[in-house]
Amino acid sequence: MKEFLQGIEQKSRNAPSDVVVMKFGGTSVENAAAIRRVAQIVRSRLGSRPVVVVSALSKVTDRLLLMGKAAARGDLETAMQVLQELRQRHQEVALDLVHGADHERVQQSLTLDFEIVSELIRGIAAVGEFSPRTQDSLLGFGECLSSKIASAAFIENGLNVALVDAHDCIVTDTAHTQATPLWDQTNEHLARLLTPLLEAGQIPLLGGFIGATCDGIPTTLGRGGSDFSAAIVGAGLNAERIEIWTDVDGIMTSDPNVCPDALRIERMSFAEAAELAYFGAKVLHPATLLPAMRQNIPVYVLNSRNPDCEGTEIVAQCNGATRVKAITVKRGVAVVDVEAVRRMEPELLREICEMLGRHQCTFDLVSASWSSASLLVGSTLGLPAVAAELKGLASVRWENHKALVCLVGDKIRRPEIAGHVFKAISHVDARMIGQGASERNISFLVDESIADESVRVLHQLFFSSDVAARAASKALCQAGEAWQ
Ligand code: ASP
Ligand code: MG
Repeated sequence: MKEFLQGIEQKSRNAPSDVVVMKFGGTSVENAAAIRRVAQIVRSRLGSRPVVVVSALSKVTDRLLLMGKAAARGDLETAMQVLQELRQRHQEVALDLVHGADHERVQQSLTLDFEIVSELIRGIAAVGEFSPRTQDSLLGFGECLSSKIASAAFIENGLNVALVDAHDCIVTDTAHTQATPLWDQTNEHLARLLTPLLEAGQIPLLGGFIGATCDGIPTTLGRGGSDFSAAIVGAGLNAERIEIWTDVDGIMTSDPNVCPDALRIERMSFAEAAELAYFGAKVLHPATLLPAMRQNIPVYVLNSRNPDCEGTEIVAQCNGATRVKAITVKRGVAVVDVEAVRRMEPELLREICEMLGRHQCTFDLVSASWSSASLLVGSTLGLPAVAAELKGLASVRWENHKALVCLVGDKIRRPEIAGHVFKAISHVDARMIGQGASERNISFLVDESIADESVRVLHQLFFSSDVAARAASKALCQAGEAWQ
């Protein structure tokens, strides 16, 4: 988390280029109708110089993963069924969108890709192993396929698009399934490959999520990584703005499924958005913001099904009244209390952290006292082993099915805000969490079963006047329309 927030006090930015990077997520390119909508949206940005980044068609990455896993356990039948289903889906979308000679060309290219996928699957089944490296090769096909279809569809729509292979642009380390870009090389490749296209008036289009090592071995940036790709490209080209097109109106004050009153946040800071992503909001890939933040490039979260909506603008600094911007919940956490037999020496604490890492327990440190430490973990699977290793030094207890409710907003860690929060939830059994590091969140732990109710109570407390004001302005607009 810290790395996202470092260097957030931004210097004024270097004069940006007039490039706008537009990233379209899986639901924005899920079928032919969605891809047509996206073509219209790109057309609306021709006044700037758009670069388009696309995700795989919705759910495709999940299906590819399932296919690889099935093959690895020897279930070639399931793997081939999924392959057939994916082939058909992509071919149908291409058939609907692209015609004539271009259609032939795209279908041939898709056929070739599916042949390679089929070979990969047989290879995985033969060795009974689905290594991270093979996983990257397989999962990357989702974006290869979607970018081929989208670029052909845009060309048919009259847009001057140039398909660019993301493997040639994003150079990464070899940390398969979670690769990190090598910035200098990536920026050099982006400048060399994309700038001439932009200068020739073309619209470069590339798949998100994927990259390659210096040796050209395919890698991926981690699930949900297309947002990150957009930010990498935006930063590399010093874009004027980065647009993340999704299927919601922007970042909301809370999950609308929990809080039907949730409102669109008009403007927020990078630090608030990163905090929100970290605490479980699903709108943005947390690392997305890092390259944009470093260069102070504004990011917009927009809705491809409602392109006229202004979405959420994320900027370096968001001046205005200090207030709660959003309320989020991180579910499925467990709280672990480690009680030292003697004292919680720094050395012992270090050992505990190292042990948790060794047993694949990712954790957040909540608090430490003279004799104990409290931690939050996403999974308790490794804890019995940790408890056994600590025998004689410390006792370990944990409670499952907890949820971390978190209020986010710049500088909200003020006693009066915390006072309101704890008064509003005084009837629930909440455990206070003191993450002293950040001024941007107030969080507490409750049983998962009462998390939603707690969020609703707090949303009502902090946003009821905004809900009323937006309803009133909507009514006014409607009255104005009726009058005309
Ligand atoms: N298709 C990839 C995934 O589902 C990347 C993305 O969509 O952001 O994780
Ligand atoms: Mg996503």
